Amino acid sequence: MDKINYYNVAIEEINKFKDKGLRPKLALHACCAPCSSHTLEFLTPFFEVTIVYQNSNIYPEAEFIKRRDEIERFVREFNINNKQDVKVIFLPYNHESFMAELRALAAEPEGGKRCHACYRKRIEAALKHGSENGFEYATTTLTISRQKNSQVINEIAKEIAPYYPTIKYFYSDFKKKAGLLRVREMKEEYNLYQQEYCGCEYSFRDTVLRNKMKKDNENH
Ligand code: SF4
Repeated sequence: MDKINYYNVAIEEINKFKDKGLRPKLALHACCAPCSSHTLEFLTPFFEVTIVYQNSNIYPEAEFIKRRDEIERFVREFNINNKQDVKVIFLPYNHESFMAELRALAAEPEGGKRCHACYRKRIEAALKHGSENGFEYATTTLTISRQKNSQVINEIAKEIAPYYPTIKYFYSDFKKKAGLLRVREMKEEYNLYQQEYCGCEYSFRDTVLRNKMKKDNENH
């Protein structure tokens, strides 16, 4: 399958309305403060953004709270520094029900089928919240992650979007055009907490194992 340049797709979509004095409402699923940093910088000149924080994948709950509080702090400071009015909606933490269908995929490597199901549920949260609350667009920060495949994320969104016909999905690739560099810079600027693992207990397990192997190799 040919790769699609989703950065260009995003710019083409913005060009449809930006000269008409419009600023559509966009529901943004955001996973954490670092991934929200450049994503908000990219989106807020064109959209009225509301973050939908649905990350019941995160384990344990203390880590969910830590990332949630950090995103709240970051958005507060981002709004002041950029004269913006980004809002954040916190959806309830329900880890067991979120993980129910992912448990059968516990042995999958990061980026595999378990993660695809996880992306789907979180993208769907933004589409659902947006369509029930009069938003024109929905999207996710997930494409900014170095570890995540933007082609896969956008393809998953294409499968779900038709179920929400009153809202448009904003296809994107936030890591392109120095997006990752800006994340690094903004992490420093805002002193953002950077988690060591993606979120669920399986990614925690894999990170602990990886770190142990690295340490063992260094000691031999
Ligand atoms: S590794 Fe990350 S994306 Fe994959 S299932 Fe776990 S929390 Fe979700």
